[in-house]
Amino acid sequence: MEVFEGQCQCGAVHYRVQGSAQTLFACHCTECQRQSASAFGMALWVKDAQVELSGPPLQAWTRTTASGKSLTGRFCPVCGTRLFHQVDVPGAPLSIKPGTLNDTRALRPVAHIWTASKQPWVQLDAAVLQYPGNPPDLARLVQTWHAAQTPDWTN
Ligand SMILES: [Zn+2]
Ligand SMILES: [Zn+2]
Repeated sequence: MEVFEGQCQCGAVHYRVQGSAQTLFACHCTECQRQSASAFGMALWVKDAQVELSGPPLQAWTRTTASGKSLTGRFCPVCGTRLFHQVDVPGAPLSIKPGTLNDTRALRPVAHIWTASKQPWVQLDAAVLQYPGNPPDLARLVQTWHAAQTPDWTN
């Protein structure tokens, strides 16, 4: 079991998530570009997540994904910082938007997805998994993540 702590940009919302990290990847789809107002989004998947929040209740917005699932994003009602994503399917991992973690130094994406729509100036490490769209095999991302972890990740 790991603990992930972070906050929104204005500091009104602090979170503490307990669970087991499954993978961390960067997504270059146009939805993530618009959501992040930047070049790509990042996702840290946590299985069996237990979320503790302090501050005002989060607001939520739901959209339909490219694969037809319903995806809810949760964000600070004061500053709008996106904190969590989760597909509305039982057992789906919680996706933390990991730029909001208090400690981001250990964040190393194991894959880049939706590279077909990445910004042309973004240079990707050839040693990191790359997929033009959704990865056909999510298990590979999970295995690669676990293989890459050093013992100090949970510090
Ligand atoms: Zn905020
Ligand atoms: Zn995306």
